[in-house]
Amino acid sequence: MRGKDVSEIFEIAKADGRDFLFEHEAKKLFALYDMPVTKISVAENEDEAVEAAEGIGYPIVLKIVSPQILHKSDAGGVIVGVEDEQGIRDGFNTIIDNAKKYKADAEITGILVQEMAPKGTEIIIGSTTDPTFGPTLMFGLGGIFVEILKDVSFRVAPIEKRDAEEMIKEIRAYKILEGARGNPPVDQETLADILLKTSDMLMDCPEIKELDMNPILAYPDGARIVDARIIM
Ligand code: ADP
Ligand code: MG
Repeated sequence: MRGKDVSEIFEIAKADGRDFLFEHEAKKLFALYDMPVTKISVAENEDEAVEAAEGIGYPIVLKIVSPQILHKSDAGGVIVGVEDEQGIRDGFNTIIDNAKKYKADAEITGILVQEMAPKGTEIIIGSTTDPTFGPTLMFGLGGIFVEILKDVSFRVAPIEKRDAEEMIKEIRAYKILEGARGNPPVDQETLADILLKTSDMLMDCPEIKELDMNPILAYPDGARIVDARIIM
């Protein structure tokens, strides 16, 4: 059974006339399902951004929050590796300028200030709603593996632990996850756990039509969801 705090996230978006959740809303939802997300805060002005960055700790990633901009880097809306207060102030204004250049009438809800996750292996977990089978999970490695090689695995939700483990093992690039060619091994248990928790969340939340965690950064110990999109 889902709690009131889960419903509230969807209600706020609907009341706002949106059919999607912003990254920070999706991450709030993931955190309610105990999934590992970056620390985040939405700032409406430079001072708030500086305060948020100081609370989270440098280095920081800044991102645009706008209902008209879903692919943030296309709009110059992501700045990684901000190291100090001046960087936050400059970055805040650069992102707003970039967003306006990209789309003159883009509404700007705020700037997302978040913890910068260390480099790791890029993983993608997603879901779509199959007209016959309902919510379906997808797992793959980020970058060219998904986009060019279409090296992904699928399962209809709900899944069990064994299904999650199989989804990870059956991609062609599985060797990379075990540690190959200078790539450290990744924590497959944590990835399986994210798949299982995503499955639970999909069963609880029929509002979710499409979901995209792109990327998740995976480490020898743990993982971090650094970007998220949910279409309702
Ligand atoms: P987009 O909406 O363009 O997909 P992302 O939030 O995925 O924007 O950011 C673009 C890229 O910036 C990511 O693919 C990732 O490489 C990097 N990035 C974003 N957020 C973080 C973060 N918190 N820590 C480290 N790298 C990040
Ligand atoms: Mg992304």
